[in-house]
Amino acid sequence: MKAFKGNIVYTKVPQSFEIAEQSYILVDEKGRIECIAKELPDGFDPNNTEDFGNQMIIPGFTDLHLHPNQYPDNGLGYDLELMEWIEQYATPVTELYREEETARKILSKFVEELWRYGILHSVQFGALDYQTNDILFELMIQSGLYCYLGKNHTDYKKDKHDVETTQESMQTALALIQKWEGKSDRVHYIMTPSFAPGCTEEIMKWTGDMARRYHMPLQSHLDENVKEVSMVLKRFTDCRNYAEVYQKNKIFGNDIKTIMAHCIHTTEDEIQALRYSNVFVAHCPHSNCNLGSGIMPVRRYLDSGIRVGIGSDISAGHTLNMMDNMRAAIEMSKILYVEEGKAPLSVSEAFYLATKGGGEFFGGVGSFEPGYLFNALVVDDDALAPLQKHTAADRIERFIYSGDERQIKRRFIEGQEVPRPFFGHKGGRHEDF
Ligand code: FE
Repeated sequence: MKAFKGNIVYTKVPQSFEIAEQSYILVDEKGRIECIAKELPDGFDPNNTEDFGNQMIIPGFTDLHLHPNQYPDNGLGYDLELMEWIEQYATPVTELYREEETARKILSKFVEELWRYGILHSVQFGALDYQTNDILFELMIQSGLYCYLGKNHTDYKKDKHDVETTQESMQTALALIQKWEGKSDRVHYIMTPSFAPGCTEEIMKWTGDMARRYHMPLQSHLDENVKEVSMVLKRFTDCRNYAEVYQKNKIFGNDIKTIMAHCIHTTEDEIQALRYSNVFVAHCPHSNCNLGSGIMPVRRYLDSGIRVGIGSDISAGHTLNMMDNMRAAIEMSKILYVEEGKAPLSVSEAFYLATKGGGEFFGGVGSFEPGYLFNALVVDDDALAPLQKHTAADRIERFIYSGDERQIKRRFIEGQEVPRPFFGHKGGRHEDF
């Protein structure tokens, strides 16, 4: 048994923070949380205690949707809308990965950045090709971070460059699954049909079948951009809405665990379909603003009992800073508040989405309730503090509004410190940069 002492902050429910100032989190040998206590139990060996002083201990972040191979395009092309941006940025960037050495360099940097920003869990939309995904699987396993990663299937429209055939698309996924699934407890495969405009019906059905047959989750995009939605309705004339394309092609269903990114322009029927199929929605506020896609009706989803997490959507979104992504979610919800009177997200709700909300996709992470894994960040927010004393409630709010990765000093998974990936020694700290 180990104990970690500090100012503990987490959310059990979205409506409020749980705060235990100067308290201990007791963690068993497997890294699971036993309880939070003000005092150590009688007979507890004080040598097994790590005291973080006045720092905050918070759950690690989950990024529910991002595209690692787009990382070099971060912050570029945002005068464009989605379909043009894909054409001019997301597709050409894949050229960079043809050379293995360059691919390794970019992807190592990306994985290191996940660690730096305290993203201990992520759901990654992989590249089209075998090599890029193969390298990323290897690096993610080496890093000790949790993730789901899957090869992106884009087999529709053969006239475009860099588009694969349906057979190639299946074979690449099968080879990756065979090599990597089951190799690690922390890194798993996720079926990844890109989105309806980029997929044949055959590949959609196949990914759904594979997910069911091998108990793998599935991820895709839904209702991101108005032009995209009208393209889908034009092509699939037998479907009343975008979600129905996925329903007909068996991508949704109570029997598979699914994430849909964006879900901005959803109709009431689609929202019911998402709820009925237990779909997780990845809210990507920066991306939605950058590409002028719109504002996701997050309050409608939360009120409907749909599970929501936050996605950076690198690189249509421009930052892995989850505090920044939380702020964007709050800010965009406030625009809807002004325009439509929908209650905006509170600070605790945004924090919940970035920790326990997205963490539910992995299960047992994102909170400090008994039985959860101690996957946590230690935050030293001294540099953000003006010269007066503040409660932990004030400090977490200020950290969300003005914090970044520089305040994240330590990262723990299952009670063990996670060193900076590829740094070659234990216990990499921010100061090493
Ligand atoms: Fe995306």
